Amino acid sequence: MSKPSELTRSLLQQLGVDPALYTGGNLAVHSPIDGSVIGQLHTQTVAQVQQSIDQAHAAYLAWRDVPAPQRGELVRLLGEELRAEKQALGQLVALEAGKILTEGLGEVQEMIDICDFAVGLSRQLYGLTIASERPGHRMMETWHPLGVVGVITAFNFPVAVWAWNAALALVAGNAVVWKPSEKTPLTALATQALFARALKRFGADRSDGAALAHLNQLVLGDRTLGEVVVDSPKVALVSATGSTRMGREVGPRVAQRFGRVLLELGGNNAVIVTPSADLDLALRGIAFAAAGTAGQRCTTTRRLIVHHSVKQQLLERLKAAYAKLPIGSPLQEGVLVGPLIDKASFEAFEKALASARAEGGQVFGGERVDADKAPGAYYVRPAIVEMPAQSETVRHETFAPILYVLGYDSLEEAIALQNDVPQGLSSAIFTTDLREAERFLSASGSDCGIANVNIGTSGAEIGGAFGGEKETGGGRESGSDAWKAYMRRATNTVNYSRELPLAQGVKFDI
Ligand code: NAD
Repeated sequence: MSKPSELTRSLLQQLGVDPALYTGGNLAVHSPIDGSVIGQLHTQTVAQVQQSIDQAHAAYLAWRDVPAPQRGELVRLLGEELRAEKQALGQLVALEAGKILTEGLGEVQEMIDICDFAVGLSRQLYGLTIASERPGHRMMETWHPLGVVGVITAFNFPVAVWAWNAALALVAGNAVVWKPSEKTPLTALATQALFARALKRFGADRSDGAALAHLNQLVLGDRTLGEVVVDSPKVALVSATGSTRMGREVGPRVAQRFGRVLLELGGNNAVIVTPSADLDLALRGIAFAAAGTAGQRCTTTRRLIVHHSVKQQLLERLKAAYAKLPIGSPLQEGVLVGPLIDKASFEAFEKALASARAEGGQVFGGERVDADKAPGAYYVRPAIVEMPAQSETVRHETFAPILYVLGYDSLEEAIALQNDVPQGLSSAIFTTDLREAERFLSASGSDCGIANVNIGTSGAEIGGAFGGEKETGGGRESGSDAWKAYMRRATNTVNYSRELPLAQGVKFDI
């Protein structure tokens, strides 16, 4: 098999990325597969980022007047480009983010799916008509583009999160400024190259083609450049995906200038398993959601809350499954668990396991794997930790494959445990009892943005709104009516009579 650096170079070439962009620069990009350097990126200056935002703003001024179904055509072309290069981009995701290939391809499929969704949406974007209290009057809502949308993304979904935001933002009539994670800028360069292909085809016969050249701008560098996007008054909406720490900084800064913010932050997702659960199903659902993507999804199952009557049985089966999990290079056929993103992530994993032990936790798994074969990479066996209580360590999101296990007696207790964490992203219950399922989904059940029955906490489809409550940030992206976050609503009252009656019976005769 070729080395990650060689494979990366040939994929970037295939995807049409100019080699000057990723050679000889100041930011070394590492593949988590073996820790080797796969690119030397040129980061930008603050002045360049400010110029990019200005250019995006100019593109927005032209784009907002393009009819929405035509805007949808650009996104349709982007979907075509993604379909044509799904294999290459999916492989690049595996190389740069360390996801197993099927998940890398799944990430690109998610981009295609949201493009399809957005194309349909471009012929809708509808408002209401509203009954007016005044004769000869009509009320309605219209939805207009917002301006420039700043999209800040995390390393673990290096390209899909951009697509969730950009596909909707573009059909809504906005321009985009994208600040990808500094850990995964190569997949961003590749995505930008595919977007450029779509834009070229779209703009070829258009008189405004040149004005639209800057519809999606890339910001390459670390968080200080993200801060430029956050603070710019020309950025109407900042959609930021990442840690709660990041959201805590970004939220107030954007609020300070009365900008809009959409936050998609950390999760601490639980699965409840009740006595009536189909344990075969639960086992598979939990294993994928807890150990898949090496525990590096915002929706990863981090807590298992299982009824005492089935706890031992389920735990034994889970441990047996974990002991056999194929761990290794994500490009290798059959591997299910790839590497952690970097050394810092491995250290956080070890630190959390040490604290859990100190709090009385019993750890299964959790050891480093293949350190001799790949000393620069961090592969670990996912850990299962039986905890005596929901301690501070359990309540904290450690972005690594640790599944804390807690027992319960009553469903009320299980739901209270599930909700008693600062985060509120995803949750699930495994049960065949209708009353238990409905109770879990009710107003006094799970307090999360996502609540599932008989499937795990991860692997959402794009048709639903995605996001969570509390420290997860409250934002919603992707399907349902999430598009409204990318537009501004105007309420219009039209008088088609010859009178001028005032609302609420107010008189003002002159
Ligand atoms: P991170 O917070 O370290 O970085 C995310 C992005 O924010 C990066 O592009 C980074 O450069 C930027 N950033 C950091 N501080 C900033 C600041 N002050 N101003 C502007 N930009 C700033 O997160 P990460 O390690 O890349 O990703 C893992 C985290 O992301 C986990 O907590 C995970 O749960 C979360 N996540 C959430 C979702 C979701 O949809 N809720 C999805 C994916 C990941």
